[in-house]
Amino acid sequence: MNLIFLGPPGAGKGTLAGLVGREYGIPQISTGDLFRESVRGGTELGRKVKQIMDRGDLVPDDLTVALVKERLALPDAHQGFILDGFPRTIPQADALGKIARIDAVANFQVDDETVIRRLSGRRICRKCGAIYHVENIPPQVEGVCDRCGGELYTRSDDQIDAIRKRLQVYKQQTEPLIRYYRKKGLLRDIDASADPEHTLQQIRAALRPSGEQAG
Ligand code: AMP
Repeated sequence: MNLIFLGPPGAGKGTLAGLVGREYGIPQISTGDLFRESVRGGTELGRKVKQIMDRGDLVPDDLTVALVKERLALPDAHQGFILDGFPRTIPQADALGKIARIDAVANFQVDDETVIRRLSGRRICRKCGAIYHVENIPPQVEGVCDRCGGELYTRSDDQIDAIRKRLQVYKQQTEPLIRYYRKKGLLRDIDASADPEHTLQQIRAALRPSGEQAG
């Protein structure tokens, strides 16, 4: 199954892509994670994108599409995949349409206040990437990962100014994709305002073939 998780930052796409990916046995492909990896690794791509990401702006389409093309060519993506955070513009969606067939697009719906609350409280493990939240999913020891003991940090683009910028960019550049995929009959609306388990149930129902739903 080839899936896209579409929605504003802080909608829970990353958390849910991890859960759904494990359940369906398909990889979660997050362009944000791939870019952050290149920044950490100090690669040429990393140097190009660091400032853009810190501001909350979008990386240019050509760089992003090239990255995704490379990732989708790896063998583990041949059985299916979840794209988390890609596409984010109409040109990216057009480019994707030439590389892969898409089966469904989960449209994560959540209001701005929830996004701001979630992102400003988000903490991530430097070592294993586990995601916490100071109120909703606090670690047992403040600043330390429960899973691996790694240090927890706040992403530079989870500062309030960058969050507002990312929301604005989402509305201007990414929201038009809702109509784009609805017209293709691929969109599945998901209420992402509650906890991850609630969102997961809706995604399962949305991805179930319609025959099964009736029976
Ligand atoms: P995310 O982790 O998905 O919130 O992405 C973090 C940042 O990476 C974004 O704010 C952008 O700067 C960049 N990024 C991730 N995915 C894309 C994309 N599909 N197109 C352009 N920039 C992206």
